Parts: sequence; structure tokens; C-alpha cells
Amino acid sequence: MLKAELVPNKDFFDSYKEAILIASATPEVIYVNAAFTQLTGLMLDAGDEKALMEILKACETATVNSNESHCHLSIGEKNAQVKPVNVSSSPLILSDLTKVTLFTFTRPGNNPASINDERKFYELADASPAMIFLEDKNGQAFFFNKAWLEFIGDSGDNRSDSKWETYIHPEDIKVTEEHRAEDVDRVPYSYELRLQKFDGSYRNIFVIRTPVTAEDGTFNGYMASCLDITEIEESQNKINELTRELKLANEELEQFTYVTSHDLQEPLRMITGYIQLIQKNIERGNLSAIQEFMDFVLSGTSRMQMLIADLLKLSRVNRKGAPFTSVDLSEVLNVALAHLAKKIKNTGAEINCEQLPVVTGDTFQLVNLFENILDNALKFTPLDTSPHIAISVTEADGKYIFEVKDNGIGIDNKFHKRIFAIFQRLHNRGEYEGTGIGLAVCKKIVERHGGDIWVQSEPGNGSAFYFSIKK
Ligand code: ADP
Repeated sequence: MLKAELVPNKDFFDSYKEAILIASATPEVIYVNAAFTQLTGLMLDAGDEKALMEILKACETATVNSNESHCHLSIGEKNAQVKPVNVSSSPLILSDLTKVTLFTFTRPGNNPASINDERKFYELADASPAMIFLEDKNGQAFFFNKAWLEFIGDSGDNRSDSKWETYIHPEDIKVTEEHRAEDVDRVPYSYELRLQKFDGSYRNIFVIRTPVTAEDGTFNGYMASCLDITEIEESQNKINELTRELKLANEELEQFTYVTSHDLQEPLRMITGYIQLIQKNIERGNLSAIQEFMDFVLSGTSRMQMLIADLLKLSRVNRKGAPFTSVDLSEVLNVALAHLAKKIKNTGAEINCEQLPVVTGDTFQLVNLFENILDNALKFTPLDTSPHIAISVTEADGKYIFEVKDNGIGIDNKFHKRIFAIFQRLHNRGEYEGTGIGLAVCKKIVERHGGDIWVQSEPGNGSAFYFSIKK
């Protein structure tokens, strides 16, 4: 038999101004409050069971038939008088998790503010898009609004879920535990956790817990309002990501404009200088040196062409990247080596390579990546040395890490970052030909493949270039 002690918030009901009757599904009346006794003259355990059962049956029939949670009814008192009352029913969960029904009786025209307030609260709570539930002072949930029931997939006619904790993501249980102290202090607080929806998916929920007090100011439990902020968070993350990308693109553009205006000036100045010389010589009728000057002009224009072609390559990495497919890097390497065949032959280079994996990526760009790094390894060697290059691969943190090691001139530690920026060269063209764009292209390609690029090197001891690609 169910005990009245199991009724959550019993102190509140005891002193409630309105008549209350709580019944089990058996059906059996398990609780009536003092206001009920005052209204009807009936009490529990006082030989009034038969009269109470009659009222209960009338209530059940009336509320079921009316399809509403409240209706009008005439109930018999102990002294056989019949009184008209308004009855409303709502589901309630006992502390042993049994579902019972709570009937509230008001005399027509006799609606104390507190009852109206309470009803209004339930109606408002049901209309709210936030998921709301109420807990009594023992932490026992006894009311869940419509939004909550929809979230957990309850049909809605029984507000049955008294264990909201079962929906918390296992990793987030600790979040609620971290707030135990605030619960004890009975202060409002909020936190975020993941809750499982009826379809099995986890949603990010922002929970606000507010202590509820009785009319006399004593603590009566907690109200929790839960907002599904998954979409808001997702769009916020997207905005953050886009802002970050935009900032990077802007910085890159600024750097790009700065360096291009400087570096493209160089061949242009040379061309202008020699054209002026040619003009002067023509004016003086001295045509003998013109051919030599023309060669300088042509060398300037071809350098400009090279710079512009390399700049185009750089801008193409993001603009014209092909969709990712499965790419066998051994084949990629073979294509890169074929492109460099002449240089390999001329330098007498020895190139060793481990078996390379298959990755997901852009074939054309990956050929470009290997080719640029190998081209540098072939190029930056002391004059009297043939290049020795070793290519190997390891795995870490879900990425492949490739190493291209050479026996070249090496790079001072202070330039290890700078060489990946556009137009950064450590030598003049007389020493080693190049535009200073190759490694900037490599960096962009690697980043598009979810990886990173870096170098370990010291002057005179060769260089090891590393780049990672997401597996
Ligand atoms: P480029 O090869 O056209 O000069 P990169 O962007 O490919 O431009 O390289 C930038 C600079 O980094 C080079 O000019 C060179 O100073 C240095 N560097 C790149 N690779 C190597 C290497 N394997 N050994 C020594 N220095 C290198």
C-alpha cells in the first residue's frame, strides 16, 4: 500500500489552501490535505474510505470524460450535503517513482490567488519553448513540462519521467556533481551539459536552476529550465571559425600585397633601367651594346613571368583545389621524380624512399608538394656534393608524418619559420635560382590537407623537412 509519506512536497500540500486528494492507479486514495477535510468533512484512516472512493471515482469519470484536466462536479460531504466544485487533475510522481494522480478541488467562485498562480505557472510552463521541470526539496522531480516530454519522446499524457539524470551524457554527470555545493546553498546557478533526445542524439543543453520558495519564504525545491543551445553553439562555432579564417586570409593578403609590390618591382626596375640605356644608346647612334642590354631586358621579363606563374600557383591552392580522392603517395612521388628527372640526372642525386601510404587528398597538389620539397633538396647543396635524399614516413595522432632529409647546405635556426612565408629567400639568385614561393605553396597545400609543415636543420648539416597529412 502506498504511503502518504511518499508524496513529494508533502509539507506544501499539507498547508495548501485548496483541497487536495492524491490517488494511486489501483485506485486508492493515499492522501488528502487539511483543506480537503475542511471542504468535505472526510479524512483518511477515519472510516471515510467508502465516501472518499466515491469522490475519487466521480473525479476520475468526470476528468476522463471531459477530456480536460479540469471539470465541474458535485461531491457529497460527510453530512450528506452535496457541493459543486471545480476539479482539476494532474499527474504526480511519488518519491518511490510510482505515478499517481493529484486532484485539486476549488469551490466555484473561490479561487485563491495561490492556486490560480500555480495553475497559471503550469500553463505557462507548458507553453514555454524551454524544457522545465520542478523538484521538491529532496531533489525529487515531480513536474515536467510539454517541451521536456517532447524532448524525451513521452507521449505527454503522463508526466512520468522522474529521473532526468538518466538522460545526461555519461561524461557530463560530473558537471551536475560540481554544482552540489550551490544546491546546498540554495542559490540560482547554471551550467551546460549534453542530454540525450528521444532519437538517441545528444544535444547541448544550458540548464538554469532556480530555488523555489513557499509563501512563507522556506525552501521548497528547485525549478530547472533547460534550453537546447546546440544550433546556437554550432553557428557560433562556425562564425568563430569563419572569423578566424577571414583574419588569416586578411593577414595573408596584407603580407602578399606588401611583398609582391616589393619583389615584383625588382625585375621591373631592371627592365626599366636597361630600356632607358637602350634608348640613350639609340639616340647616340651606338647600337653595338643594344643586343647585350636586350638580353638583360628579356631576363627581367622572364623572371617576372616566373614570379607571376608562381604567384598564380599559390593562389590556385585554395581557389582551384580539386575535390579530395584516394591518392597513392608512391605514385605521386613517381610523378614528382619524373618531373625532376633532368635535375636528378645532372646532380647525380641518390634518392631513397620507404613505401608510402595511400591518403585522401588532391593528387595534383600532393605532386606539387613533393616536387617543391625535392626540388629544394636537389638545389640547396654545396657545389662539390651530390644530393642524398631520404624520404620516410611515421604515424602519430591520426596523421602521417613525412620526412624528406637531405645532405644540403642546411638552414640557420632563426630562418626555420620565415622560409615558409612568400618570397622569403636566404640567398641571392646568383647563388641559387628561385622565386621564394615554393615553400609558401607547400604550406598552403599541407594546411588544406589538415596538416602542418616544419623543418629541422642547421647550417652545413643538411635539412629535414617534415609535413603531416590527416589519415
Ligand atoms: P625557392 O626555392 O624558390 O628559393 P622556397 O620557398 O622553396 O623558395 O624556399 C625558401 C628558402 O628556403 C630558399 O630560398 C632557401 O633559402 C631555403 N630552403 C628551402 N629548402 C631548403 C633546403 N632543402 N636546404 C636549404 N635551404 C632550403
